Amino acid sequence: MVDLTGQYQGIKEQVDESISSILENAAFINGPDVHEFQADLESYLGVKHVIPCANGTDALQIAMMGLDLKPGDEVITADFTFAATVEVIALLQLTPVLVDVEPDTFNINPKAIESAITPKTKAIVPVHLFGQCANMDEILAIAEKHNLYVIEDNAQAIGANHTFRDGSKKKAGTMGHVGTTSFFPSKNLGCYGDGGAIFTDDDSLAHTIRGIVNHGMYERYHHDVIGVNSRLDTIQAAVLRAKLPRLDAYCESRRQAARLYSQAFKEQEHLITPKTVNRCEGICDTCDCHVFHQYTLRVTNGKRDALAAHLSQAGIPFGIYYPIPLHLQKAYADPRYNEADFPVTNQLVKEVISLPMHTELDREQIDFITNTVIRFINE
Ligand SMILES: *Cc1c(COP(=O)(O)O)cnc(C)c1O
Repeated sequence: MVDLTGQYQGIKEQVDESISSILENAAFINGPDVHEFQADLESYLGVKHVIPCANGTDALQIAMMGLDLKPGDEVITADFTFAATVEVIALLQLTPVLVDVEPDTFNINPKAIESAITPKTKAIVPVHLFGQCANMDEILAIAEKHNLYVIEDNAQAIGANHTFRDGSKKKAGTMGHVGTTSFFPSKNLGCYGDGGAIFTDDDSLAHTIRGIVNHGMYERYHHDVIGVNSRLDTIQAAVLRAKLPRLDAYCESRRQAARLYSQAFKEQEHLITPKTVNRCEGICDTCDCHVFHQYTLRVTNGKRDALAAHLSQAGIPFGIYYPIPLHLQKAYADPRYNEADFPVTNQLVKEVISLPMHTELDREQIDFITNTVIRFINE
């Protein structure tokens, strides 16, 4: 699914050099690379504060702790996402409220958000799934109207731009009150272990969060709030510093692979290729709205599982993201959910399949993959 060793060859010299210098200086925690990466990422994203932390799940949890949400507060998020999003809501004893997504972008449906709002609702967590932003024009308007926080789960879309209706642009993760990301190795900006970060333009929230990640300390050994221990280590920061200047090129390689996939599948009546909010299908040359963390097809003739088995046999990796809607997971079931409210997720889990997607895919590999898929799907 991903080729991390190929990408490493392009940054090997810089990464090896920084890692040996960290080893020489034993600056494993809070070394200079951490602060430098933080500053580099702030300027790349155009956001006032980046607070690095240990992983993307912590980032979400800490963002919610920083907003001082209280047990019983309702937090609306997508039914179709990785479990981390809903897990931290539940861990903090907030009440997750899962809602349906849109069939074309796989992202949270603003109408479903609006119908789920109650007097207890305090926040919305849009997940920018598979590499493109949720409908932030609508989501920010709903949040403003109902006085709700917006926490962007940007684990899958770092580097993506969102173009608002008025033509202005912002980077994914910088539009809500707070945004979070993950640097897990297979993410678009991945380190060589675990890592994550929180973004915000709010000075006071940034200050609160900087204390939370460090045991609730604002002054040494004074614990003003309950915190956690969540750090990005120096070695990971050094890897990320080497990769960040190449992130836009990495995203473009992914888009190029997506264009080739979508061109090959254009005439296939049983396959739906990924759509973008800009309606350019992610394949126009100037498109920067989708960074293709995943290239996800919908197989509409009931042959998804058979196709998966066939790809396995042909030695082609694939992923099913996600096979079960969160509202049907044991841990997150809630008697208040009504199956009729989740027609899209219930359908998507049967149809989606993600093809190999990374920065090192070449034309020959893509031709092999698309030919294998097309032959099978029309058998
Ligand atoms: C990967 C991911 C996370 C969690 O990130 P980790 O670094 O693995 O903790 C959260 N949300 C989404 C949507 C993700 O894809």
